[in-house]
Amino acid sequence: MLFCNIDLIDESFAPRRNQFVGVRDGRIAYIGDVRPDGDWGETYDGRRRLLLPGFYNTHCHAAMTLVRGSAEGLPLDRWLHEKVFPFEAKLTPAAIGAGVRLAIAEMLRCGTVSFSDMYFACEATGQAVLDSGIKCNLSRSLTVSDGEDYRNSAAYAENTALLRDWQGAGDGRITVDLSIHAEYTSTPRLVSAVAAHAAQVRTGIQLHLSETKTEHEACKARHGMTPTAYFAAQGVFDVPVTAAHGVWLEPEDRAILHEKQASVACCPASNLKLASGFVDARALLAEGVNVTLGTDGAASNNGLDSFRDMTLLALLAKGASGDPTALSPADCLRIATRNGALAQRRTDCGVVAVGSRADLCVVDTDRPWYVPATDPAASLVYAGRSSDVVLTMVDGRVLYQDGAYPTIDIERAAYDAQRFTNRILSQI
Ligand SMILES: [Zn+2]
Repeated sequence: MLFCNIDLIDESFAPRRNQFVGVRDGRIAYIGDVRPDGDWGETYDGRRRLLLPGFYNTHCHAAMTLVRGSAEGLPLDRWLHEKVFPFEAKLTPAAIGAGVRLAIAEMLRCGTVSFSDMYFACEATGQAVLDSGIKCNLSRSLTVSDGEDYRNSAAYAENTALLRDWQGAGDGRITVDLSIHAEYTSTPRLVSAVAAHAAQVRTGIQLHLSETKTEHEACKARHGMTPTAYFAAQGVFDVPVTAAHGVWLEPEDRAILHEKQASVACCPASNLKLASGFVDARALLAEGVNVTLGTDGAASNNGLDSFRDMTLLALLAKGASGDPTALSPADCLRIATRNGALAQRRTDCGVVAVGSRADLCVVDTDRPWYVPATDPAASLVYAGRSSDVVLTMVDGRVLYQDGAYPTIDIERAAYDAQRFTNRILSQI
């Protein structure tokens, strides 16, 4: 495909006007202000459009679209135990597949090209990812109820099968990570065993970290150290880690995360809705930590809209610090895109640059809130909305355009999700 006369956000996250962008064999093969020679296939009229890297949603529980609206107005511990866990006990792989298909449709419509997922029955998620064309770092959520001895647990067997059958599937679109749900659902023995497994198979770990003050302080009372120090003591950060939330991190925690090159997936909408607080993204950036963006699941957000989370992250960083220079628009766009790709260890993704994989979205700027076009990055971050997205492309393949999904039967996805939710709600 050849995008013609299109404005873009370049690899330094600055705007560039009126460019030609050629996509060939899944990668960006040309960027320039003159039309390139040769046959590029379909041409795309880019006038009054802005091309940017697609969003990398680095913390999600995609199947939880089914729980959307079923667990409202509760703090995290009651939200989990009174609403989410009973619902999840009734989930089948078929229901999870339906929830994930709906989630993928929602994410593609919001400009998301890849997500990091933590859940169970991951084969159902993997199949939906494979069929849709999106990218995903799959991980099977692990809690201590799975048994103290990890190597003899169902989780270890599932992880082994996932690594065997799904690692690198879909021409590398699927990556299999391991997962530890959180400090409060683990033991040191379990955590160190998962860390050793991840090191052995050379993969990463996804986990929840210091999401609530209660969790953070209870860990200090239980183990005499913060959750970050606890995980570090078990060797978790010796492999690539994406830690979700990080709301209650302390300065020493940020130093550990920087030293160990971990990523922190900030989930501002989920944290605000569950009244958990908000992450200090400015302090993380200042420490040199790889800061990324996540939506968390739709049960606590209630959408999977990275645009909205990006805006919230930007405004919270300024409001909380009293510093209007905290998190520039370029910082926010990099956090939502390139940093997320790096957290997923997709080093050739997340930027509009020649040689990079064509994981892109196009925003319609023929709307009042993008006029005048004095600072397109600022308009995107502070005034942009996911409904401005008119095209989402993954590895050079269009997966969403102007309301249409070439790879997803959206009516069926919505129908199935509603049907499974109705059935489960009638059982609990
Ligand atoms: Zn989560």
